Amino acid sequence: MKTTAVHPLLTLLLVGSMVFATSCTTQGKKGKQAPEPAVTGGAPAPMPTSAGIKDSYNRVPTNLPFIALTFDDGPHPTNTPRLLDILKARNVKATFYVVGTNAKRYPEIMRRIIAEGHEIGNHTVTHPNLSKMSADGVRNELRVCHDAIVSATGVAPRTMRPPYGAITSAQKSWIKQEFGYSTILWSVDPEDWKKPGSGTVASRLVSGATPGGILLVHDIHAGTIDAMPSTIDQLLAKGFKFATVTQLLAMEPTGN
Ligand SMILES: [Zn+2]
Repeated sequence: MKTTAVHPLLTLLLVGSMVFATSCTTQGKKGKQAPEPAVTGGAPAPMPTSAGIKDSYNRVPTNLPFIALTFDDGPHPTNTPRLLDILKARNVKATFYVVGTNAKRYPEIMRRIIAEGHEIGNHTVTHPNLSKMSADGVRNELRVCHDAIVSATGVAPRTMRPPYGAITSAQKSWIKQEFGYSTILWSVDPEDWKKPGSGTVASRLVSGATPGGILLVHDIHAGTIDAMPSTIDQLLAKGFKFATVTQLLAMEPTGN
């Protein structure tokens, strides 16, 4: 028998992404897009101390109609800003699994991602196959990327995604212990990197989406960005709502 209890911070997280956004940003230029919930006096919104109960997720077990849109391998100098414009126009929040080398190269885009209420996760510094590496090698990949994200944005990443989805169970376990990161895989992969055309990318994402689903695409490909307006509009029309990965993780039932 399953309980339907949700994480106690769920309500707070869902109250408004503006709270989340402004608490996370170090250069809090507040827009006037949405009315601010009543968090005043400069008190930051409380953050969960740990994102995710388990070592690894392909999706989050919830019946709530939330999904996470995740973008890997950026930031990209032109495609990522274009994507951010599309997300902003629809008030959709996403998660970016950035590569450390790009994070160092494009710190302004990193800051824009955070300032607009999105989340950034760790996708290693050089995009290697972690499953074939020593523990020290993996540790260094994650640490350098972590530090690059903090250095650019002031905000620490709270989850990681292994390049190619390649990671061992043992690695997932010690990474969770050492870094606090759950390993975030995906439930829908439209294989956008094979450039099947933006219509195909959109239809694969829309048909694959389920509650708690994690959608994988790459913001380094122009065709993927082209697919986003139609993808997002169709998903919204089907009743889905968008959460960042840690917001989605907070929806996992805490009982069992
Ligand atoms: Zn990647």
